Amino acid sequence: MTVNIAITGAAGRMGKILIEAVSLNPNTVLSAAIERSGSDAVGEDAGELAGLGKCGVVIVDALEQVINDFDVLIDFTAPVATVANAKACAAAGKKMIIGTTGCTDSDKAEITNSSGQTAICMATNFSTGVNLCFKLAKEAAAILGDDYDVEIVEAHHRHKVDAPSGTALSLGEAVAEGFDRDFNEVAVLSREGQVGARTKTEIGFATVRGGDVVGDHTVMYMADGERVEISHKASSRMSFGRGAVRAAAWLAEKDTGLFDMQDVLGFK
Ligand code: NAD
Repeated sequence: MTVNIAITGAAGRMGKILIEAVSLNPNTVLSAAIERSGSDAVGEDAGELAGLGKCGVVIVDALEQVINDFDVLIDFTAPVATVANAKACAAAGKKMIIGTTGCTDSDKAEITNSSGQTAICMATNFSTGVNLCFKLAKEAAAILGDDYDVEIVEAHHRHKVDAPSGTALSLGEAVAEGFDRDFNEVAVLSREGQVGARTKTEIGFATVRGGDVVGDHTVMYMADGERVEISHKASSRMSFGRGAVRAAAWLAEKDTGLFDMQDVLGFK
């Protein structure tokens, strides 16, 4: 079965990669592309914009204009746009892949609500390697136990607007789950000044921003006399694009519910 894909945020860093990833997957075809109103990309051919040559899909500036033209919308934009798009997809019975990060708890509650009416797959990171790291991070915490202090370090390109990265937070949640701790109680998202000694149960984060780093994450498990590290380094956004398109093809078979990349990969 060929799955018709719409991409919103088509002119973004991820949008262009997603257009290429859809063209590389034998089960998917690009059938619509959307950008924010006022973007220079509106009216352009999506394939040309992605450097692939004309594909006949013209970028529009409102999801409503193309709501009947696709099976699954892939959205890597910004939280406000993503929440609105989830409502529109739910009302029209269209499936949705959400890669946008920086969503608040209230954004996530609205997305969960929309997933009562349609199938949504949301992940802070769609790379297969990172999803393996989520699984390993939880297992390592459960095996190593409370003698190990855990800290997570991440680095991203200079344009990234949210911190710590959604992936770092998901790694922290996986570690907290492995330790059987409440993530919101133990997460220390940044440190500055006289913060005092580290508490036994906290999970600390450090953020690096600069250059063109696609995404580096390291989880450190530190005890007296040894340190274990689980590291992932993305060298191309295609790792996220390929995963998101694979998830879209998988999601096309679902009716309703909120899924993540661990579901797609059969890790649950
Ligand atoms: P970007 O700024 O390059 O692209 C975002 C695009 O969305 C822009 O072109 C912008 O014009 C467009 N946009 C904003 N509002 C819109 C609207 N209402 N309608 C249509 N288009 C709209 O950013 P990026 O680097 O491509 O990242 C986008 C998001 O994806 C960020 O939240 C980022 O953290 C996330 N991301 C997630 C993953 C993952 O695997 N889940 C991987 C990489 C990036």
